Amino acid sequence: MKIATVVGARPQFVKASMVSRALAESNSGVEEVIIHTGQHYDANMSQVFFDELEIPHPKYNLGIGGGSHGENTGRMIESIEKVLLKERPTWLLVYGDTDSTLAAAIAASKISIPIAHVEAGLRSFNRLMPEEVNRVVTDHVADILFTPTTSATAQLVKEGIPAQKIHQVGDVMHDAALHFAMIAKEKSDIICEVGLQEKKYILVTLHRQENTDNCERLTEILSGLSSSQLPVVWPMHPRTQARLEQFGLQVPDIVRVIKPVGYLDMIMLEKNACLIATDSGGVQKEAFFYSVPCLTLRDETEWVELVNVGANRLVEAKAEVLAAELRLNRGPVSNRLNLYGGGAASVEISSVMVGGH
Ligand code: UDP
Repeated sequence: MKIATVVGARPQFVKASMVSRALAESNSGVEEVIIHTGQHYDANMSQVFFDELEIPHPKYNLGIGGGSHGENTGRMIESIEKVLLKERPTWLLVYGDTDSTLAAAIAASKISIPIAHVEAGLRSFNRLMPEEVNRVVTDHVADILFTPTTSATAQLVKEGIPAQKIHQVGDVMHDAALHFAMIAKEKSDIICEVGLQEKKYILVTLHRQENTDNCERLTEILSGLSSSQLPVVWPMHPRTQARLEQFGLQVPDIVRVIKPVGYLDMIMLEKNACLIATDSGGVQKEAFFYSVPCLTLRDETEWVELVNVGANRLVEAKAEVLAAELRLNRGPVSNRLNLYGGGAASVEISSVMVGGH
């Protein structure tokens, strides 16, 4: 059996690392061919993840990144189709909601290669987000849909996806958090390197188009952060950096901007923060895994259960609203609720795929 995995962006490297490991350890003789679209290409957004997370070297690197959504997606469909025709895999395996996910799913569906989608059923119900369109389309052309949560499963059923295609396995990012937490503690020295004190700083990440490409929202967020009483550390996504420069916006003095960090450093930054403010899907969940309270700088979230249990708060992009939230004294959140499965999602995915269920 041959599985072609298509990845392209940072969160997909984290997710794929766990499933690739499970496939390799399944002793089923399955061959995995990794195709990297090139969507994220900077070394600190791509190569560092392959190195640290021990992801097998991609057999193909398509080098498609830096264009508009439509341009990238179109070029990816064309290139992925060529690779799939050559490799003729039993399955295409895709993750999440990026342009690489969509392009691979479309390419495979046109040549009748069955598709497995990991992190299926997530919805923000905001069609202005490119990610929302990507995940809806991918779910509706997929043959196996691996959901992380009960609400994701319920959503797919509501959309008419046959129940036998859906496997609720839990969240592969939870598997990754459990697997890499100790390794990060041993290997990362980021807290010292950046000169941070445990539980005495706020961690910020921001990269969603709705925030980065909107000068007004970005200005409000920067202004809200400026009233933080605690130092703020912000590993800045290249898109955000580019927009700040384009809009001529300055980061307030209390904020320490650093380059995007590798996954192990990110774990340590997350675990030791007293609060995380983010618009990242993955970071919202990781905050919960490490019991750190989280503010989500968006109007809605796909990870609704975190808001429902009070681990996460949606915060309007208004300076005074964010400033007030930053001033609140929050203790650690409990992560004892089993919201994302028991940490064996990757193994379950592997056994469904190699078992052909
Ligand atoms: N991440 C990282 N370094 C950073 C920022 C994020 O390793 O500087 C990791 C983070 O821990 C999580 C993943 O990247 O595992 C989330 O990716 P991102 O926020 O880019 O995408 P999203 O989850 O919103 O799709």
